[in-house]
Amino acid sequence: MNDTGRSVTVPAQQGRAFTVAAGELVEIVDVEGHQVGDLWVIDAEDHGRWLSTSHTRDRRERMFPRVGESFTDQFGEPIIEFTADASPGRHDMLFPPCNRWLYESVGLFDHPNCHDNFLAAAASAGVTLPVVPDPVNFFQNSAPEPDGTLDVLTAASSAGDSVTLRMLRPAVVVLTSCSVDNWPTNNKNCTPLLARIGAA
Ligand SMILES: [Zn+2]
Repeated sequence: MNDTGRSVTVPAQQGRAFTVAAGELVEIVDVEGHQVGDLWVIDAEDHGRWLSTSHTRDRRERMFPRVGESFTDQFGEPIIEFTADASPGRHDMLFPPCNRWLYESVGLFDHPNCHDNFLAAAASAGVTLPVVPDPVNFFQNSAPEPDGTLDVLTAASSAGDSVTLRMLRPAVVVLTSCSVDNWPTNNKNCTPLLARIGAA
């Protein structure tokens, strides 16, 4: 990535939206380590098309794409490519974003959450969808056990670890720094993420 790019800091327990051009690279950096980032990608020219985790699993016949493979929209058309992984490689594409009802179920009211942070960030970019799609949860350490159990362990990523994505069409990207601070997901210490955007 060259030096002419821009960067967006996503503070702990918040979300941010930014627009990208086709061909641009987006590097998502876990600044302090052990921090999950939820990612949504919406086609800038047709908000009815967005990155679909279920259709990506279907088309790739995998729980998560390999580096070099693409994520697709709900029509099976590639929307971003996974170009590099400088992390332990543990990511999730099964879970929804955390939401207020998840926290309320354990007695935490008015807790920050990725669902509401997505809605606010998307609205700031002029995007309103009929649903909140399931995100790609980078650095989330919750690979299924052989019996199907899904334990969400502390993210294995260290400070400075990152993933890099190539945008395959103009898009609105929403990234949230996951708000979970009561389970091990983010090492019970929510921290910021950094998105670096630039040309290849
Ligand atoms: Zn979350």
